Amino acid sequence: MVKVGVLALQGDFREHIWRLKALNVDAFEVRKIDELDAVDGLIIPGGESTTIGKLIRRNGLTDLLRRYHKPIWGTCAGAILLAKDIEDSDQFKLGLMNITIRRNDYGRQIDSFSQDIELNINDQRTSFNAIFIRAPRITKLGESVKSLAECNGDAVMVIEKNRLATTFHPELTDMNTVHKFFVELIVKQQNH
Ligand code: GLN
Repeated sequence: MVKVGVLALQGDFREHIWRLKALNVDAFEVRKIDELDAVDGLIIPGGESTTIGKLIRRNGLTDLLRRYHKPIWGTCAGAILLAKDIEDSDQFKLGLMNITIRRNDYGRQIDSFSQDIELNINDQRTSFNAIFIRAPRITKLGESVKSLAECNGDAVMVIEKNRLATTFHPELTDMNTVHKFFVELIVKQQNH
């Protein structure tokens, strides 16, 4: 049975844990180095990317995360932290994915929205209600990055090897599809 960690420094990590538990997956809150070492993959939740970045540094997780080779998935603020480039910002980042991202690019809190999108995963198209909250926009995808879902022409779910980013919040719906996809990514890596 795989162990999935959720970075629990700030943001909606509890919702991710609930979603994983709904799938009967062992889910753990991660705050410290030994907790990070103990899991087979990590989710960085939505929240405030600058705050999460500050707490990553304070908790001494920077090096371990920048060298992370297990599957990792960032939602919203988590996606910002995974990006190699954050437009017009020199804030802390992990730089694990070859994407460029622009924070708050759909407007302010009141411009948050939800929209039905199609996920293109496992050779299948699945409808998914995507919730965007002060979402970042992915503005550039490196060659090795593949888009798995679009919303109004923007890539909103992208994958690069075992690294996944979504600019929306699958943890805030009652659909398990994206969490299941990530867990399968971990299982695949383990059987490798
Ligand atoms: N606007 C936040 C940031 O820039 C992200 C919002 C979210 O995670 N819902 O970090």
